[in-house]
Amino acid sequence: MASVSETVQSLIRRSEFWLTVPGMQRYRFWETDSPNRVYSFTAADLVQFTKTNCLAKANPNSSDVSEFKNEMQADLEANKANPYTGTTLAQSVANCLVWIDRLFFFGIITQQDKRKDESDHRSLITLSFGDHCEEPEMKGVFIPSQATLWVNLDQPSGEPEPFDEIFCVMVHELCHVYLGILTKDSNASRYHTEIQLNNGHGVQFQELLHFILAQLFAWFPMIPRLGELAAVHQEALQNALAQPIVSETIARSRIYACSDTNVFLADVLRSSSKFPGVCI
Ligand SMILES: [Zn+2]
Repeated sequence: MASVSETVQSLIRRSEFWLTVPGMQRYRFWETDSPNRVYSFTAADLVQFTKTNCLAKANPNSSDVSEFKNEMQADLEANKANPYTGTTLAQSVANCLVWIDRLFFFGIITQQDKRKDESDHRSLITLSFGDHCEEPEMKGVFIPSQATLWVNLDQPSGEPEPFDEIFCVMVHELCHVYLGILTKDSNASRYHTEIQLNNGHGVQFQELLHFILAQLFAWFPMIPRLGELAAVHQEALQNALAQPIVSETIARSRIYACSDTNVFLADVLRSSSKFPGVCI
């Protein structure tokens, strides 16, 4: 049986392979085999491994966890005194993203361990911000073909979204990123149930997001939104579990119908970004 660090290494290699796959082919990545390397983490495998071994769970008293709590606390106090907007809000969210990746996703998304000693380090994704688009209700989206996680900093009314709301949106989108890059399945029916159900909010998505929100709420009870959303996603998990399993054929057609929607979104969003991408 592989050790935790061996398993993390195989997740990292899989994520590096994802980077080499041309954008549109990433919509098939869940069923794409890595060349010369066996990789077979279903979403359930990945979420189970993550819930047991991520830093937040395996080492909750680590200096990393306390450092994140202190930084977040400072952000919350500064934001309370003078609500974050624009670039300050964007930078703070980018900083939080790096922490969430480190504490819950083994640092794989931002490749933090490589940053120190490799000049060709790159994050798997770019974080982008927009203040308007043709879907003003949309708060965030992960666009695999562009390796971009997009977050809307403004409410439909034009008012800036509060920091805690943006933080929650970012956490939600990161779950899409992590599962989208690291899930491999040879069974479309299972992949559909675990990931793709309800526009990408399947059973394992709900399980992972609920786990993270509940942990964050335990750390930051002063952010009620975390508790509300943890409850919402716990209920959504029960609903997803109650959905009937669909056949391979139906599952496959639904999975690829969804990717067309993503392509459309990518086009809609291309001209809507006000801030340049943030390298994370
Ligand atoms: Zn979502």
